[in-house]
Amino acid sequence: MGEHVEDLLSAYIDHELDEKDLLVVERHISVCPSCQQELDHLKMIQEEMIRFYQDIEIPSMNFEKAVTAKILNEEVRMVLSYRGFIWFFVLCFAILSVLMYPLFRASFYVGINIGSALVNIFISAFNLAVSLLSTVPNLFGIIGVITFIILAFCSWSVFRLLRIKPVEE
Ligand SMILES: [Zn+2]
Repeated sequence: MGEHVEDLLSAYIDHELDEKDLLVVERHISVCPSCQQELDHLKMIQEEMIRFYQDIEIPSMNFEKAVTAKILNEEVRMVLSYRGFIWFFVLCFAILSVLMYPLFRASFYVGINIGSALVNIFISAFNLAVSLLSTVPNLFGIIGVITFIILAFCSWSVFRLLRIKPVEE
């Protein structure tokens, strides 16, 4: 019967044995129930593996679709939130205008008041952001960057607001 060939069985089912070892294995498993059983077991595992990878092949396509849908969804949501932001800003502006109506009435420089109201909003938001960030120590670099982002965002908001205003009227 010779020695058991368990160590060679994995290479055998992967067709990686040279002719000499192949002959040894084939001869041995034809007479050894133990190694035959081990071989069946290894083949079963291999089939399970193949089935497993085939199974995840189909969901992976679905996964791609799901990701694409998710990205599209995110884009739609970004556009919506962008619009939401613009409307929120317009609403804030309107409320502030109403609150500052006595000032408007008292002054001929309505435009300047609107401008200063906007500036006040920005400064408040900026101060809030800075005070929040200041609670975290040793992050001045990050604070600088975020400050720049906030300023850029505010400028951009005003730009958008100025562009959206004529459409409303
Ligand atoms: Zn054996």
